[in-house]
Amino acid sequence: MTDPGMILLGQTLSFCGDPFVVPPETTLRHEPRGAVLVRDGRIAAVGPAERVLRAPDAIGCPVVDHGNKLIMAGFVDCHIHYPQIDVIASYGTQLLEWLDRYTFPAEQRFADPGYAAVAADFFLDECLRNGITTACVYCTVHKGSVTAFFERAAARGLRMVAGKVCMDRNAPAGLTDTATSAYDDSKALIDTWHGHGRLGYAITPRFALTSTPEQMDALGALWRERPDVLMQTHIAENRDEIAAILEAFPHHADYLTIYEHFGLIGPGTVLAHCIHLTERERRALHDTGAAVAHCPTSNLFIGSGLCDVHGLHGPPGPVTMGLATDVGGGSSFSPFATMRAAYEVAQLRGATLHPVQAFYLATLGSAKALRLNDRIGNLMPGYDADIVVLGLTSTPLIARRMTTITEIWEGLFVQMILADDRAVDTVYAAGRVVHGSRRA
Ligand SMILES: [Zn+2]
Repeated sequence: MTDPGMILLGQTLSFCGDPFVVPPETTLRHEPRGAVLVRDGRIAAVGPAERVLRAPDAIGCPVVDHGNKLIMAGFVDCHIHYPQIDVIASYGTQLLEWLDRYTFPAEQRFADPGYAAVAADFFLDECLRNGITTACVYCTVHKGSVTAFFERAAARGLRMVAGKVCMDRNAPAGLTDTATSAYDDSKALIDTWHGHGRLGYAITPRFALTSTPEQMDALGALWRERPDVLMQTHIAENRDEIAAILEAFPHHADYLTIYEHFGLIGPGTVLAHCIHLTERERRALHDTGAAVAHCPTSNLFIGSGLCDVHGLHGPPGPVTMGLATDVGGGSSFSPFATMRAAYEVAQLRGATLHPVQAFYLATLGSAKALRLNDRIGNLMPGYDADIVVLGLTSTPLIARRMTTITEIWEGLFVQMILADDRAVDTVYAAGRVVHGSRRA
């Protein structure tokens, strides 16, 4: 029997352009009384309610009325670490010491697949509670941590991307692999999980300080064999990190060229941070099509620096960029807190991040970074029905402030500055309720 479908009613919001290229307000399509027709896990139609409700294929569909709430694409977090749920809010360190003191001990617990499965469930609950329907996830060095994560994500029907962290130096013995085992384990995980349901794989060397040239060479070879998967790592986060990297790779003039040398940079590369870049690196990001994961709460919390978001969209041409929480370096799972921090980081650099740009980075921009912008990140016919329904009056202060706005983009700004998980009313994944009061 074919799916009878379902119609969601409420305010609807979608993008019809890139707000970094044309005036941001012109890239929004907002219907004050809109409707989304969902069928077979996909969006079949979006538009004014009266038009969608009268369409022949909508006749007889059950209707879910979300009232005056805002229906939009689920948030996409293009860089996060699921094993770091016990590391978030760790006191008093910057990157390299933070890794040694907090992160590496926490990640060693994921040698136990049972522990990993429980943590993965907690992590996914937290993502959904905050309206994140897709994330690009670092697991740990343990193959079982990836299996546990994918199993839990598959059980919920989510579109998630993840990879086994590869480290063969400068990490505790319990967290290291080798060049050969990193290649073999990653390849086996790709064969099992990439394309299974809605899951995708990302080859994941943690960063150049924890991978030997031999390991990066092996992972570059794997990516050449499987260019359909993503490649994620960290770069140019912290000045001490950069100094250590250039000492470890004395024959390379800058950080990015190391990854380039091993064939790890191109379309499908997702590079977290990109704060302290040389002019050559910045140009190479544009030329190669590698994407930037902007992690503003993490960059503020660990004291790493201020990413030049606007500069990265300027000459010699824009880079692909998404927004990311980077939990547990990041201090919140909330896309609102992350957009707020992105706004504040831009302010400290003397630039202004428009709310439409912020919401774009947190949805379609991140989807583009993950090469999924034809599937998720927007309310469009044919896209996955990964949808978040936001209450726009989730606290007394927000409710009061919303009475003063006249344009939807102003309302989005109020939300990104003041809202939190209380604004996330209902979350749908492939058309099924996965979070909220309407969950069966
Ligand atoms: Zn990270």
